[in-house]
Amino acid sequence: MTDRLYYHDSFLYDFDAEVQETTESPRPALVLDRTAFYPTSGGQVFDTGSIEFPNGSKLRVTEVADSVDGKVIHYLEAPVKDVQPGTRVRGLIDPERRRDHMQQHSGQHVLSAAFVRLFNLPTVSFHMADDYCSIDLDTPTLTKEQIGSAERLANEIILENRTVDIRFVTRDDAASLGLRKLPPAERDELRLIDIRDFDLTACGGTHVRQTGQIGCVLLRKAETVRQGWRVEFVAGQRAVATARRDFTVLTDSAALLSAHIYDVPQLISKSLDEIRSLRKQREQSLEELASAQAAALLAETAEANGRKLVVRTFADRDLNSVKLLAQRLVRLSANVVALLATTSPQPSLVFAQSPGQPFDMGALMKETASTLGGRGGGSKDMAQGGVAGGERLDATLSGIAQKLGVGSAKVP
Ligand SMILES: [Zn+2]
Repeated sequence: MTDRLYYHDSFLYDFDAEVQETTESPRPALVLDRTAFYPTSGGQVFDTGSIEFPNGSKLRVTEVADSVDGKVIHYLEAPVKDVQPGTRVRGLIDPERRRDHMQQHSGQHVLSAAFVRLFNLPTVSFHMADDYCSIDLDTPTLTKEQIGSAERLANEIILENRTVDIRFVTRDDAASLGLRKLPPAERDELRLIDIRDFDLTACGGTHVRQTGQIGCVLLRKAETVRQGWRVEFVAGQRAVATARRDFTVLTDSAALLSAHIYDVPQLISKSLDEIRSLRKQREQSLEELASAQAAALLAETAEANGRKLVVRTFADRDLNSVKLLAQRLVRLSANVVALLATTSPQPSLVFAQSPGQPFDMGALMKETASTLGGRGGGSKDMAQGGVAGGERLDATLSGIAQKLGVGSAKVP
């Protein structure tokens, strides 16, 4: 089993060790007799850094993991060459990443304890991602006020700069200490993280020495999950970086609205109301336009064999407005057959006939769209389809008009 130096000192970034095993497949890796590198476990992600060899060469440690038999495996960027078991090496932890992890993880202890102290809400899991962390609370409800109170208490504990001690006790002793969380019975000796007079819990992670080193805790999104509520948070430098990013986004949004950042929600709400109202007006205008155009088209179309055939290809008209026009055409008169098309933004077809007319627009559309490399269909009286290109639309519509035998078609 690897001797885990971080168990005793989370601020040890530089250590000596002896190589015990090296391997090249499936990935280059090595095992040391002791290490300060933290392997992913308990919700906390691994450390990165480098291993320095006696000849002065260095290899990056890209991932660190636990093996089933208690070893810590250091995955390397490249295979180690000519390194035998017994070689003395030096390990160097990336301090910035370690400090960030200590802030997040210690922040989690304080926050989880705050939820217990204030509302008796236990944390059932902890997750650390690259940009934020989260805890899952075992509770059916969680209010904004509770979130605010827990955040306030956590930051008070941080401000009080309480000592964070590491203690090792037997499982029997631990049972009488009133731990916030007792791990499953695997080992006889437990490592306890003791935030003075505030929280005592068993944990194998890396933590700060004083709560002040956490800096601060900032709670963010809260959402329901299967087991209760998930609360996202960031601590320390991450909190500052996140607040900075939020502020930038908010400032950019405010600039778009020429407003102060605090007025952004109100202005967005107002703009959305305006958009809804304009959309309604636009729909109404389009309907009026369609009615007027339908009337004009019917007035200029001669009747042949008792029917009026309207054939039109539009540019720059969306499918919906073409459909609207078709609906108006067949509603205005009982003897209309409309073959309409638009070339952009999407080449499309709309066929319609007044109820009672003898053709089958759905079948006609299916056949036509397929001929033009697209798909379409619909009911006996109304059908629509999309086609591959707009080039052959005019000619195709004229051809259909001839085939229907409704008389000479007017194709503008
Ligand atoms: Zn911990």
